[in-house]
Amino acid sequence: MGKVLIIGAGGVGQVTAHKCAQVPEVFSDIMLASRTLSKCEQIAAQLKRPIKTARVDADNVSELVTLIRDFKPDCIIHVALPYQNLNIMEACLETGTNYIDTANYETPDNPNFCYDLQWKYHDSFKDRGIMALLGSGFDPGVTNVFTAYAKKHYFDEMHELDIIDCNAGDHGQPFATNFNPEINIREITSNGRFYENGEWKETEPLSLSRTYDFPEGIGEKKIYMMFHEELESLVKHFPSIKRARFWMTFSDNYLKHLGVLQAVGMTSIKPVEYQGQEIVPLQFLKAVLPDPASLGPLTKGKTCIGCIVKGIKSGKEVEYYVYNSCDHEEAFKETGSQAVSYTTGVPAMIGAMMLITKKWEGKGVFNMEEFDPDPFMDKLNQYGLPWKEIFLKG
Ligand code: NDP
Repeated sequence: MGKVLIIGAGGVGQVTAHKCAQVPEVFSDIMLASRTLSKCEQIAAQLKRPIKTARVDADNVSELVTLIRDFKPDCIIHVALPYQNLNIMEACLETGTNYIDTANYETPDNPNFCYDLQWKYHDSFKDRGIMALLGSGFDPGVTNVFTAYAKKHYFDEMHELDIIDCNAGDHGQPFATNFNPEINIREITSNGRFYENGEWKETEPLSLSRTYDFPEGIGEKKIYMMFHEELESLVKHFPSIKRARFWMTFSDNYLKHLGVLQAVGMTSIKPVEYQGQEIVPLQFLKAVLPDPASLGPLTKGKTCIGCIVKGIKSGKEVEYYVYNSCDHEEAFKETGSQAVSYTTGVPAMIGAMMLITKKWEGKGVFNMEEFDPDPFMDKLNQYGLPWKEIFLKG
């Protein structure tokens, strides 16, 4: 039915390739392309049906254009790094191809976490008659769809939104990140930000915390407030929200190691000179930390990511919690990747499915909450990320 080009052969690319390959009735032809061809070939060899592979440098628009013209995909799923978003969007414009990603654009020297530079493409995508779907991972991604689902079915007005991301998995390593270490550490060491009464309020990195009692046998964990990009699009598209915050769990051990690395300058993105060569400390740190893909067979436990929404329905107060919990070992059994990659790759595949089957249609640049959440929620249940809902009030 449709041809999909997946760019990026890391943990998320691996899950995306597995999940697309499981749905031949939608993804009739699949190509996996990345900077290192052997990683694409390794993933292709794990699959039950043949897919094409290619080498591409996504920092190079003309290389991308040549590959796209050759394969002619209906849609690109970009799961390489956020540095490549604009290049791939440019190549999509040039070739008239639909675009999906899972993280907002960042420049290597500025972890800016904002959608402006991608939203600016709305008119050119619209004029070209193509669609860009931004942030089709879990958070952003499913959390946007959860919020849209809450609004559609249970609220006249949403007033407060708390997105809570818990990874209760344990990989037994002294210190490792569950997805690309460079992108992960840039996010965590940035200032926190939350939205309150029409204003963004900034906080010192991880300076606000509290305890939350998670379902699914996970129990109490400490959660830390930080900024996450979906807050920006959600308060734009649901203007009744008065307060929006994002929280994530970190173990004491993780924070102890991160604190030391920060204190000695190893998380800095400012280049330093070393033996006559410029190196970025954080990029060097990435090179010595465990590759997130290597954590797959080691990680045990579950994730639990969801949204708590407070607001009003028919004049009554409602507090609603919707979440998914994903088991690391089950994710690994199915796709060879742990649950953090799994919870990102499955929604990336479903986003492409929405687009190819025309359940979600549009010309321009869109965030996930701008479409009908129902078909996406159905597919989450069908393709490995079942969700649950609890009414805490109302
Ligand atoms: P990895 O670092 O494991 O994989 C990234 C892949 O992209 C690697 O295969 C890498 O190639 C490839 N790549 C990097 N630069 C280029 C380039 N210039 N051209 C072509 N390929 C390139 O990352 P993850 O799989 O963990 O994460 C992928 C994306 O998913 C990231 O953008 C991350 O922010 C996002 N993400 C989103 C989440 C969500 O919930 N929304 C959650 C987790 C991740 P090589 O192997 O040669 O280095």
